[in-house]
Amino acid sequence: MNPIRRPLIAGNWKMNAGGQDGCALADAVAKSVKDSDQVDVVVSPPFTALAAVAHVLDENKSKVTIAAQNMHAEPSGAFTGEISSSMLKESGASWVILGHSERRQLFGETDEMVARKVSAALASGLRPIACVGETLDQRDAEATLEVVARQVRAFVDELAKQPGFGVIAYEPVWAIGTGLVATPEDAQAVHAMIRGILGESSDELAQQTRILYGGSVKADNAEGLLDQADIDGALVGGASLDAAGFGKIVEAAQRLAPRTDQG
Ligand code: PEP
Repeated sequence: MNPIRRPLIAGNWKMNAGGQDGCALADAVAKSVKDSDQVDVVVSPPFTALAAVAHVLDENKSKVTIAAQNMHAEPSGAFTGEISSSMLKESGASWVILGHSERRQLFGETDEMVARKVSAALASGLRPIACVGETLDQRDAEATLEVVARQVRAFVDELAKQPGFGVIAYEPVWAIGTGLVATPEDAQAVHAMIRGILGESSDELAQQTRILYGGSVKADNAEGLLDQADIDGALVGGASLDAAGFGKIVEAAQRLAPRTDQG
């Protein structure tokens, strides 16, 4: 971790923990992370639970904030089944996960679509967590750096408009939900490459942008990853559905956290 960047741990609940389950999970997360004052903590419920989770966090006087898991790039219109950035904000979200590999692989999102969403999120004051990462085939073909660089370059100009407001999550697709995790050294090498691309735009962008690692992060492997110079936090899927386990990942970040004022 780097003293300039405040650690961020974000839970991606995916299509789990809606309704009452989501409220109970949010309540448990709020209680389990309440002493971690040097770490930004985010939870990402399904759309239908956003407002209820916001209410629960409010009742707990919690600093935990909320991300949505996707949005449409247009502000309104004839897009049946879609949801806009302003609707997410009204429901209590201040962040939005964009370009998750499940969106790219299962719902056909392209680099260009992700860039448009990043742009729309920033324009409306919603903080994007823009996801990138290579598939197993791409990794086996030793194309990791090339693929991730292409994905980052698609939206870097958008992030450059507000340095530090957006976040990047490097999530190797082969590590998501598989129990396989990148070694801290391999993850660090990709994060350093991403920071290099940010640096081509400006030093400020490179220094201020938090780059999270995601892919089978658990309480027992978090510390090694978070200890790397360019890993500023984690995007956590499966392990974020258990408040105690998620709390332990936040505690690991808290132990390693430099004292900073970024928020
Ligand atoms: C994710 O879906 O963003 C993720 C990282 O999942 P998991 O932690 O379960 O691998």
